[in-house]
Amino acid sequence: MIFFYLLQKIKPLIFLPRFFYLLLWLSFSSFVYGQQTEIVDFISVKAVVRPLIKEKKVIATTSYTFKILKKCDSVYLDAQGVFLLKNIKNRKIAIHLNNNKIWLVSKFKPTQTYTVSFEYEVSPKKALYFLDHQIWTQGQGKYTSNWFPSIDDMNDKIEFDLSYIIPSDKSIVANGKLVAVTDTGAFKKWSFDMKQPMSSYLLSFAVGDFSKKKITSSSNVAIELYYSSTDSLLVEPTYRYSKIIFDFLENEIGVNYPWQNYKQVPLKDFLYAGMENTSATFFSDAFIVDSIGFIDRNYVNVNAHELAHQWFGNLVTETSGQSHWLHEGFASYYALLTEKEIFGEDYYYWKLFQSAEQLKLLSEQGKGESLNNPNASSLTFYEKGAWALHVLREKVGDSVFKKAINNYIEKHRYKNVTTDDFIIEVEQAYGKKLHEFKKDWILQSAFKSEQAYQSLIKSNFINEYFKISALRGTPIQLKIAELEKALVFPDDFIGQEIVYQLKNEPLYLTLPLYKKAFDSNNIFVRQSIALSMDKIPKELKSYYESLLMDSSYLTQESALGNLWVNFPENQSRYLDEMEGVIGFRDKNIRQFWLFLALITEDYQTARKDIFVKELIEYTAPSYGYNTREKALRYIGNLNLWDEDSLLHLIDASQHHYWRFRDFSRNLLKGLLENENYQKQFLLIEHQLDVDSLIFLKRMLNEK
Ligand SMILES: [Zn+2]
Repeated sequence: MIFFYLLQKIKPLIFLPRFFYLLLWLSFSSFVYGQQTEIVDFISVKAVVRPLIKEKKVIATTSYTFKILKKCDSVYLDAQGVFLLKNIKNRKIAIHLNNNKIWLVSKFKPTQTYTVSFEYEVSPKKALYFLDHQIWTQGQGKYTSNWFPSIDDMNDKIEFDLSYIIPSDKSIVANGKLVAVTDTGAFKKWSFDMKQPMSSYLLSFAVGDFSKKKITSSSNVAIELYYSSTDSLLVEPTYRYSKIIFDFLENEIGVNYPWQNYKQVPLKDFLYAGMENTSATFFSDAFIVDSIGFIDRNYVNVNAHELAHQWFGNLVTETSGQSHWLHEGFASYYALLTEKEIFGEDYYYWKLFQSAEQLKLLSEQGKGESLNNPNASSLTFYEKGAWALHVLREKVGDSVFKKAINNYIEKHRYKNVTTDDFIIEVEQAYGKKLHEFKKDWILQSAFKSEQAYQSLIKSNFINEYFKISALRGTPIQLKIAELEKALVFPDDFIGQEIVYQLKNEPLYLTLPLYKKAFDSNNIFVRQSIALSMDKIPKELKSYYESLLMDSSYLTQESALGNLWVNFPENQSRYLDEMEGVIGFRDKNIRQFWLFLALITEDYQTARKDIFVKELIEYTAPSYGYNTREKALRYIGNLNLWDEDSLLHLIDASQHHYWRFRDFSRNLLKGLLENENYQKQFLLIEHQLDVDSLIFLKRMLNEK
């Protein structure tokens, strides 16, 4: 899995849009539910699952096969939430529900295999989400057993062969190979087969209006790239490098891709950046981009990260949260290697440097965490984990490292592992013990910044960057020559660093440097001007105006805003120039344009009503939460609330994605403090469904 805020991109962190900063993750442990794995091994399950869209329910018929390992009189399946069991027809096994488990009761004998079947109904509170046009699941961190009785513990791997009955006009992506689609009138039954077992947190399906593009890896694995039919022109930039990524990782890891096929599907309002469900990666549709958007924000890192999990996590799985870095550290490291292949070595070192800075800071604050701390933050699991592998590889060399990885996977495929299982394989391939490495990188909570530094300065680029960044405290007069020299064909990151150092310095000294930076035509260097310069000097006006044409939606949005503020006399011209530009999936530029058009005096006065309508439209549930949040902000800023936007705000305040929900709730609370709005809410009450009405009453009482 990967969280939005972990995604560092081509540019320094400070330039990342806010949208990428999400929570620090609540770490989860798979160990909560005890040691049942010593008593029973659930082997396989066959089921027919019917999601009821209108009722937001799941009805299913299931049949589990399990082997008893120790004599006992009961075993259980996890079933969190209110399950209703129906039609239980097992002669020898009694079934009942208790304490979020379905208990199977009988005089079980060791080494015997049993089968139990039942039907159930559940209205999932989480782990399965019903949206207007999509249904999708998220097992990790939420527990699959909220919609499908299964094993919350990662240590029992099951072969899942599931069929789904869904409306005929929808399609579905799920684990395994699609083996049959049978028509039953208004519905179709889609049957999937898996050949190998996996942990329950990886069970998944997504229903929607999907089209797909098929490609094949060099090793002949069928890969399906899903998209909405309205996004057909965005398939290439969104999925750019997908085949290269697949071929690279298969080669680099040195073990054939272990599942029957590979699917990737972008989902609306997904909870994370991506999730590596076995053979079916789900990711946020915020990554659907055109070729300009690709430059600012692309799917490459998440694409590689989730694919790497198909080996590290899905095939070879942690025993407990103590070895969680065997999932996330590995996926992050292999994603980094993939980016090195695509974007080059400087990029690789830049990202290592960025994460080292964060880890060093954490460590210096006394908050460093060891890799085997099950409650560590994701910075530790992901970035320190990746660093540990980078350092380990430098120490043992490429061929030993690859051999160890190979042995580790082959030995533990479809099983569970601890950190020691991995270290043992490296020690064997290396021929020496790795006590020191283990102490420094696995057990120690502090980050070994000196070791990291020594590794970083092996990169010429990092050395050059350090030279320039060391000038931060130097008076501008004394460094002009050096900065000017470095601005000839500047590197992305070094160029940005230079632009930074020009901020707030006297213009008569910095003017030629700014001009040089503009003329470099480096999109990221120019972007750093767009993002760091608030007051635009007249001498740079035409240079700055040229930013509106840059192939970056971040640059364009920022430049439009700054030009509008700095040169009121040209506001209409800037707006005319940018009319019709949409921007990212959240329509960042279009929405900003509407906002500016509405507050610009005498600009398209006759169309202002239409602009307001358009902004209000973007608050509707049919749009993604990023789009809605932006629109709600603008509506709030301009106080444009009407019936529709208030209804949309109430809907947003109950959204499944907590960050958007909290944002909307705060906005709603603010409005409810105002008597006029209280009256307005009373007027729209009759349009609310029961849940929303109860919610609104509660909010009114709370205020
Ligand atoms: Zn991950």
